[in-house]
Amino acid sequence: MDLKSTIRAIPDHPKPGIVFRDLTTLMGEPEAFAQTCEALAAAFSDAGITHVAGIEARGFIFGAAVADRLKVAFVPVRKKGKLPAKTITESYALEYGEDTLEVHEDALPKGAKVLLVDDLLATGGTAAASAKLLRAAGGNVVGAAFVVELVDLPGRAKLSEVGVETFSLLTFE
Ligand code: 5GP
Repeated sequence: MDLKSTIRAIPDHPKPGIVFRDLTTLMGEPEAFAQTCEALAAAFSDAGITHVAGIEARGFIFGAAVADRLKVAFVPVRKKGKLPAKTITESYALEYGEDTLEVHEDALPKGAKVLLVDDLLATGGTAAASAKLLRAAGGNVVGAAFVVELVDLPGRAKLSEVGVETFSLLTFE
């Protein structure tokens, strides 16, 4: 099945000049969704992953399905103020202002081998901050998996700088 054709392009969202890649249409086709999660899991099936960390919110959808396929634990990386127990926090720069992500401080046991999952890699700011957070929580971040990589943006290079290997299923310019 041609997965790329199931992703809808929304011009000028969330602001003029941006083409938003809408993955709800991929999720809306059972065969495409299953094929996507299968491929993400398959790329890391021999990597000894013990935990999949999904980034709020679309990373939860793909990450949970990948964790289920790999038969490993799922860890949510959430926006500030959502997690109920004691957390570790990491802020990162946005185009305007900053955002903060959190993980429970006891989310990972010593020696955890973590796969980071999100729907899309753009500048890499979100994923790099998440990797930092998971390391601060004691995890060894083995790689980061994305359904879509925007290859004209420096996400892959940014993750490489922080020592995280990137895997992406589909690319858009
Ligand atoms: P980055 O931090 O790499 O610049 O942005 C990636 C984050 O923004 C991801 O969490 C992703 O969900 C979201 N994002 C940015 N652009 C898009 C887009 O075109 N489509 C989707 N689905 N998410 C996007």
